[in-house]
Amino acid sequence: MRQYIFTPFLLLCVVLTTKAQTTSNNPNAEKYIYWGYLSDYKLGQATEAFTAIDDMLQTYLPEKNEPCLQREMALVSLDQLLHDTDNDATEPFYTFINNRMLRVLEDLDRPVTKGLRIYKLYNDGFIIKSRKATVAIDLIPGGSDAKPFIKDSIIYGIAGKCDALFISHIHPDHANLNIAKSFAARGKKVIVPYGVWVGVDPMIQQIEVPEVETDIEFEELDLTLHVLPGHQDDVYNNINVVEFHGEGTVAQTGDQWYCCDMDWIDHVHEKYEIDVLMPNCWIHDFERHIRGFGPKLIITGHENELGEHSIDHREAYWITIKKMELMPNLNIPYVLMTWGEQYDYQR
Ligand SMILES: [Zn+2]
Ligand SMILES: [Zn+2]
Repeated sequence: MRQYIFTPFLLLCVVLTTKAQTTSNNPNAEKYIYWGYLSDYKLGQATEAFTAIDDMLQTYLPEKNEPCLQREMALVSLDQLLHDTDNDATEPFYTFINNRMLRVLEDLDRPVTKGLRIYKLYNDGFIIKSRKATVAIDLIPGGSDAKPFIKDSIIYGIAGKCDALFISHIHPDHANLNIAKSFAARGKKVIVPYGVWVGVDPMIQQIEVPEVETDIEFEELDLTLHVLPGHQDDVYNNINVVEFHGEGTVAQTGDQWYCCDMDWIDHVHEKYEIDVLMPNCWIHDFERHIRGFGPKLIITGHENELGEHSIDHREAYWITIKKMELMPNLNIPYVLMTWGEQYDYQR
């Protein structure tokens, strides 16, 4: 009887030992076992998710109106990753944003033959390229000086391919002095609000009189900059209306947030023919601003700012989709883009 019980037990031992030996012979066998290593697990998951999102966004490109299901899935997944503070300042995030910005750097060499090519960058940054000019608005590296989100070689490479820089206001998620200096050092103009960086460099030009609309001609670039005197509370916030002669006019609102500017914002469309409006996605009274500018197309900015705000004010792509759904009678198309994406606009 004793021998009868012992035999199957011995057999089981032999099977288990054989299985263990097989497993240990495979050097990758334990690569994806994270038991007890919670932060490693989250890094592994973030790496996989950022990579899949990047692939998805390169397959399903920006398009007018509500994004297709695949793009929406990618953007909402990005919202989730970027609203989980465990992913802040991690390698998967740095890899994601730098890969996308590197593609912008390379793509800026691709000529525009007609209309405008609009690139969206972190955080409320845009680059608009026409046949004759490449203009940056609110171009920043993000992060801290010690550890910027975008590598110096990439962000300064991008800056080097632009002809002028326009800055909405002094807040660090829009304005970076080192980037501005890099433009000035190349003899390229930087236009900033009244009182900002006075005396730093003659190429960094302040609006001379506050509260007054200012026009600046860039003959060599075949464009006119119209600076509208906006505010974010009590901070001067230039609304940059860039008229690329014969190609299109864009308006970027910076962090516009001031009820008393509405009286004149209501009438912007009477003076300017705005092709593309690029508002901050959390602007107050969104619909009234859009009607005031009267654009032909909307491209929002400022989603997923990874700054000092708590996650409820990081803003999400899904919230922009919901806000646009609340304006069914607007009849103005929008293009929802993320960092490193581009859209070709033609009148
Ligand atoms: Zn601001
Ligand atoms: Zn901002």
